[in-house]
Amino acid sequence: MDLFEYQARDLFAKHGVPVLDGEVIDTAEAAAGVTERLGGRAVVKAQVKVGGRGKAGGVKLAKDPADAVEKASQILGMDIKGHTVHKVMLAQTADIAEEYYVSYLLDRANRTFLAMASVEGGMDIEEVAATKPEALAKIPVDANEGVTEAKAREIVEAAKFPADVADQIADVLQTLWKTFIAEDALLVEVNPLVKTGDGQIIALDGKVSLDANADFRQPEHEALEDKAAADPLEAAAKAKGLNYVKLDGEVGIIGNGAGLVMSTLDVVAYAGENHGGVKPANFLDIGGGASAEVMANGLEIILGDPAVKSVFVNVFGGITACDAVANGIVQALELLASKGEEVNKPLVVRLDGNNAELGRQILTDANHPLVQQVDTMDGAAERAAELAAK
Ligand code: GDP
Ligand code: MN
Repeated sequence: MDLFEYQARDLFAKHGVPVLDGEVIDTAEAAAGVTERLGGRAVVKAQVKVGGRGKAGGVKLAKDPADAVEKASQILGMDIKGHTVHKVMLAQTADIAEEYYVSYLLDRANRTFLAMASVEGGMDIEEVAATKPEALAKIPVDANEGVTEAKAREIVEAAKFPADVADQIADVLQTLWKTFIAEDALLVEVNPLVKTGDGQIIALDGKVSLDANADFRQPEHEALEDKAAADPLEAAAKAKGLNYVKLDGEVGIIGNGAGLVMSTLDVVAYAGENHGGVKPANFLDIGGGASAEVMANGLEIILGDPAVKSVFVNVFGGITACDAVANGIVQALELLASKGEEVNKPLVVRLDGNNAELGRQILTDANHPLVQQVDTMDGAAERAAELAAK
């Protein structure tokens, strides 16, 4: 989960990374009072989860409370790279002498964490990496050792930070590491980390991405979710404990096992090329224990998607045998009917693996008018795509 800048700023403050005072608002009028409290001047910053806000006109200096209201009203409602601005953060202004860059991230390829730092911050760091790779220091961080004082010094040296700010930056690197570990982040980035006119080091912009796999031990993270922006189907699926991702196609997909579902998306997209370009409408992995209830929950979500024209249920029986899955499908359809839910989209079911014969027989006997069986994955994908194209 990516955070807004103001949320990143709050986490930085909590763990001792130096930041400036600020407050997030969602109406322009509120800017006057906040600017007053911040000392009469403020920087007004669009809160959208995308970089390059400065260049897009989403960061503006306000010289007094009335000007802050004016600037906030210009920025609220603005479209920045497809993201509408619903909130702005007002922050104390900084007198910037230099702009640096620091970040920590998970380096999957090398199975370690990685620190990146540069004295050329402020601008697009991707551009620095591409045009002046020697200006971006990359230092692996051992997960068991973390960023000790010595490690922080190593990063400071590698990035060639000036001597007058070396101590302060070494401190920031350690508090930023604390933030990264304590919050179970996948990324913490400060760009720019500034040196002010009077020599203070301050994190002026923050980007944080949290690891959702750690949600179980981070109860405070739920409150950071942007509920307004969440896809309503994804939110409903999450509430039912389903592993569902909304996509923009027409063929609803249910499968067991993430790998099988991924390859189901591929074969459906491929088959769709011959049927007017229909595509998978979602990812949904109902996992190993495909009970009637889980199947009903999955079908309910998928049938509730107005874009879905057909559904492909692709199950490879393993520990959960196909007869249990077939019974699950039959009971799920009964359950939805008894709840008064309209089931009016064709279901293409492919059962293979453990007890496939028995599972197919159960569906044949149930003889539900919307259910058709195809024995192969490619054939079923073809059928589901054809039905969605009609
Ligand atoms: P981004 O463009 O989305 O990365 O937004 P930033 O928060 O990094 O702001 C972009 C740029 O605006 C920074 O690199 C600074 O140069 C400038 N900026 C941000 N806050 C202040 C401030 O308080 N004072 C001044 N003078 N410039 C600021
Ligand atoms: Mn920035």
